[in-house]
Amino acid sequence: MYRSMQFLLLVFLFTSCQQDVFEQEDSQMLGGDITSELAPYFRTFQEEARQHGLIVDYESANLTAELIQIDEGSVAGTCSTNGLNLRHITIDQSFWNKASPLLKEMVIFHELGHCILGRGHSEGRLENGACRSIMRSGLGSCIDAYNGSSRDYYVEELFVETE
Ligand SMILES: [Zn+2]
Repeated sequence: MYRSMQFLLLVFLFTSCQQDVFEQEDSQMLGGDITSELAPYFRTFQEEARQHGLIVDYESANLTAELIQIDEGSVAGTCSTNGLNLRHITIDQSFWNKASPLLKEMVIFHELGHCILGRGHSEGRLENGACRSIMRSGLGSCIDAYNGSSRDYYVEELFVETE
């Protein structure tokens, strides 16, 4: 009994050590200083960028990102950049706690649209009233429609600006 308990404990320790190592490798690969909860979305952006022929290196872009409490009404995220050595993204913790994975992705891609792609806001509407771009400000009249079936269109539009 004691022996098998010991064995189980060893297996457990081994498993948790391996997970730590994986996490470290992941954040090293990503570069920059990005809160680990946000990192998977930044990695997806990197991958989408690569498919559009754009190499995104968060480290050399000096990109940093954190989850904080943004106490400004409905603001879910911000990008502070001078286009050079400052690129800082904040995501609101309350928003993060409630949002679906797709909504999280939309907000992070939007902020990266500002901070990495240098895009401004774009308020255009499609014929059905949906926003033409995820770079909409949220203050215009278009309707957000980022979902499983429209995602490809919006990601394409993000990298290949249509307006
Ligand atoms: Zn914006």
